[in-house]
Amino acid sequence: MSRLPPIFVSHGAPTLPMDDVPAREFLSGLGKAMPHPKAILVVSAHWETEAPTVSVAAKPETIHDFYGFPRELYDMRYPAPGAPAEASRARKLLADAGFSASEDAGQGLDHGAWVPLLLAWPEADVPVAQISIQPKLGPAHHISVGRALAPLCEEGILVIGSGGAVHNLRALDWRNGSSNGADWARAFDDWLTEALAAGDDAALCEYRDRAPNARLAHPRDEHLLPVFVAYGAGGPGSRGRRIHSSYTHGALSLSAYSFG
Ligand code: ZN
Repeated sequence: MSRLPPIFVSHGAPTLPMDDVPAREFLSGLGKAMPHPKAILVVSAHWETEAPTVSVAAKPETIHDFYGFPRELYDMRYPAPGAPAEASRARKLLADAGFSASEDAGQGLDHGAWVPLLLAWPEADVPVAQISIQPKLGPAHHISVGRALAPLCEEGILVIGSGGAVHNLRALDWRNGSSNGADWARAFDDWLTEALAAGDDAALCEYRDRAPNARLAHPRDEHLLPVFVAYGAGGPGSRGRRIHSSYTHGALSLSAYSFG
């Protein structure tokens, strides 16, 4: 089984499957650009818990965890099978690394998971599980969670972090159709790209103090935390390569990275 590099994708707005934008084109080609994964483990910004938790549902439901969007979006389903065995393996790796990790059989697929998966693996034939984030615990904790999961990448399991490289809903202009971002957003995005490319753990862990416009780019940490898990899953000496860059709504970054 060949190694599958962990990746991070920005999932943008829930309407991404309906929007004719560069990020949709990128995600639509993502599945074809790599070997078929045995299973996918998604770390989504939209599942927050106190301690790391993996979803072990055999048939995860599609969760429409957003409000006020077009009807069409609420009719979309992502019927991929669950990946309970791989999720349990992830929980065991986390326990071995000292985390008090648990399993949740009732958790479905939130839109941070199913929106990019619907585009990248439209046949929904790859089993999927999710793992939660811990917003109170910051970047270092999430890098450690990723490191614990690194062996999965050698077992044909694709670890995907799904969040947003720049994510401030109050700073968006919903009528802006350009795929170029505002200067302040690009400055943060480029800083992040450089820190990931350098494998600079210290800078990443202190991003709130060191990155330009950090507070504007991320009023809360939650949409950035999945990038740290994917970075950690790249193993010791992990480095990130930006594999996509575009924006929607003026300042919503759709940056994606591959790690190894
Ligand atoms: Zn989101």
